Parts: sequence; C-alpha cells; structure tokens
Amino acid sequence: MYRKNEGADSEHRMKTGKLFVLSGPSGVGKGTLREHALNNAPNLKYSISCTTRKPREGETDGVEYRFISHTKFQEYISQGLFLEYAHVHEDYYGTLKSDVMSELEAGHDVLLEIDVQGALKVKEIMPEAVLIFVAPPSVEVLTQRLTGRGTESSSSLEVRLSNALKEIALKDKYDYVIVNDDLDSACEELKKIIL
Ligand code: 5GP
Repeated sequence: MYRKNEGADSEHRMKTGKLFVLSGPSGVGKGTLREHALNNAPNLKYSISCTTRKPREGETDGVEYRFISHTKFQEYISQGLFLEYAHVHEDYYGTLKSDVMSELEAGHDVLLEIDVQGALKVKEIMPEAVLIFVAPPSVEVLTQRLTGRGTESSSSLEVRLSNALKEIALKDKYDYVIVNDDLDSACEELKKIIL
C-alpha cells in the first residue's frame, strides 16, 4: 500500500549522528578529554576547524587545524561555508558546514571543540546539539596550568586568562558541565555523555 508522504517520512527516519560540542577555557584539558573520547567512541568523528592562527611547534596542517590565511577565511565567510565562526583570543576560528553535515548524514557522531560564542551559535542553528562545558576546579588552578604549559607569550596568556573568566560565566547555558578536577574521572564523564 502506498502512503502519502512516504518519501518524506522515510527521510526523517534516516539515522543521522549526534552533534557534540565541547568548550572550556584554554588550559582546562579539553585536548586530552577530546582524545580520550575519540579513542573510546568508535562512531565519533572530530571536525577539524579552520583557523588564521599560526601553527604551534609540532602542529601539522590538516591534523589539529586547517591553517589558512585571513584572505581565505574571509572568502569562506562570504561563500557561506561556515556553520559557525568566531574571533577567539587574537585569531579567527571556524567550523566548515560540509564537514559536519557529511559526517552526520553518514550516521557518525561528530565532536566540535570550539569556543563559547561558536557553541551558542551552533545551539541556535541546531538545538539538538549537545553542549558540554569543561570547567577548571578553580581559576587559580587554571592559571597555574596555563602558565605551566609554556605555549603562550605573556600577552597571549593574559588574553586567554581574561577570556577564561568570560567563558566560565556562560557555562550555565550548556547541557552538561564537567569539572576537570581529576582527569580520569573527567574523561569517564565525557565518555558516558557521548555513549
Ligand atoms: P587554540 O588556539 O588554543 O588551539 O584554540 C583557541 C580557542 O579556539 C579554543 O577555545 C578552541 O576551542 C577555539 N576554537 C577552535 N576551533 C574553533 C572553531 O572552529 N570555532 C570556534 N568558534 N572556536 C574554535
């Protein structure tokens, strides 16, 4: 028997993946949490962002980020290629729509690691996205971690710390908040949310 709108219904029933968005201040341990989640959730794909930031030592184009020029970034904006983009710290960062949509449509879950401005934009466009904020146990601990990491100049460190306070103030807008006091427990918490 033929049912009206069958095509549209079956399209709706198509299994698509879930979108997870991880945010938190610089130095809170998002990188480690992300790696742990990717190693433990086989269906989870990481979306590699574009940035105008220069690569740090040991970073490779196409692995941590797609490192692109300001001109290219502006081109992508005018072509409407970004799902979201934001000016974070001192550079531009953006998520390509095509990367996320193709993985979701293939039935994979997708993980974005983006800042608070970007995360809130994604939630507006895709309310079903699951927003996860990683918070430090205290601002003092975060300062120590960020200073100890030794990846930033003193001016960049200052910007990152002042942005950290602004980001932490918005954590209640997230679906989940993980306090990264103990790394192993934080990893387990994230895995549970994703799986
Ligand atoms: P970093 O320079 O330390 O790699 O990243 C700086 C900040 O930019 C981090 O908070 C990171 O989550 C954020 N970020 C990375 N990629 C994106 C993106 O595509 N969009 C937005 N809005 N933020 C991003």
